[in-house]
Amino acid sequence: MQPSPDLHTHSTASDGTLSPSELVARAQAAGVRVLALTDHDTTDGLAEAQEAAAQRGVIFIPGVELSVTWGEMTIHVLGLRIDPANPELQLGLGRLLAFRAWRAEEIGRRLAQQGIQGAYEGARALAQGRLVGRTHFARFLVRLGRAPDVQAVFRQFLTRGKPGHVPGEWASLEEAVGWVRAAGGDAVIAHPGRYALTARQFARLFGEFRELGGRGIEVVSGSHDRDTLLRMAQQSRLYGFFASVGSDYHGPERPYLELGQLPHLPAGCRPIWQDWPELQGLSPGRATHSLP
Ligand code: AMP
Ligand code: MN
Ligand code: MN
Ligand code: MN
Repeated sequence: MQPSPDLHTHSTASDGTLSPSELVARAQAAGVRVLALTDHDTTDGLAEAQEAAAQRGVIFIPGVELSVTWGEMTIHVLGLRIDPANPELQLGLGRLLAFRAWRAEEIGRRLAQQGIQGAYEGARALAQGRLVGRTHFARFLVRLGRAPDVQAVFRQFLTRGKPGHVPGEWASLEEAVGWVRAAGGDAVIAHPGRYALTARQFARLFGEFRELGGRGIEVVSGSHDRDTLLRMAQQSRLYGFFASVGSDYHGPERPYLELGQLPHLPAGCRPIWQDWPELQGLSPGRATHSLP
């Protein structure tokens, strides 16, 4: 059995469109044997996903994707194999969720100034009582006919310099890594290829992250092309990071990679799951991906 890990996915607990149990069912159907749910700044979906995974024989890894302010940038740090009951982690998440709640209202006010009424209520309705992210606003504006697709809404309204953009402070890198470690997890830099950083800035980010106790970076990601994947494989070896693999799946609607379609880790990468007891039953030759 090929374990085919996917260690970065979203559910309706944040900005995914499948419920945690629907996500697990779809992952299993796609041949994913090891699945992490990593919703933005919340662990609310983990219990349901864990239960669904147990029923379906999928190895479940509890995770979270933390929003981090690093310098002027927002970056994302995954916590993998976390204990969601950890009070330090939950205190940190509480702060991020409070900022999210305020930010959502503020995005609504700013869009209203642009003549777009009811966006906050619309985004909230799409979030169905869970946290409200920019993706919910984007989906609502697409429904309003303000833009052809979610990406276009981000470009026109929600990114820096655009009318619906709200600046603010997420967790520091130190806090995020600290919360993940307090919860017994492995901290991993998500989709590094998406950050617009110079080589020097990448060196600073990776250096600081390693210093703080960060363990890995995503090498294989739904948002990495082949070149980026190979570049990040090289970076992981250079810094002695473990390599992670995740689709960043948000649901079937979006133009993202479907579950079960990730390329293999290149040779020479140490998989982040190398020492995870859950995966020790699997023979190392199989838990480790082969050459691309
Ligand atoms: P938030 O954490 O609420 O600020 O929203 C970040 C999320 O928005 C990311 O995890 C993506 O799911 C989505 N996102 C960010 N940028 C884009 C983009 N340019 N196009 C589509 N989705 C995006
Ligand atoms: Mn997202
Ligand atoms: Mn992300
Ligand atoms: Mn993500």
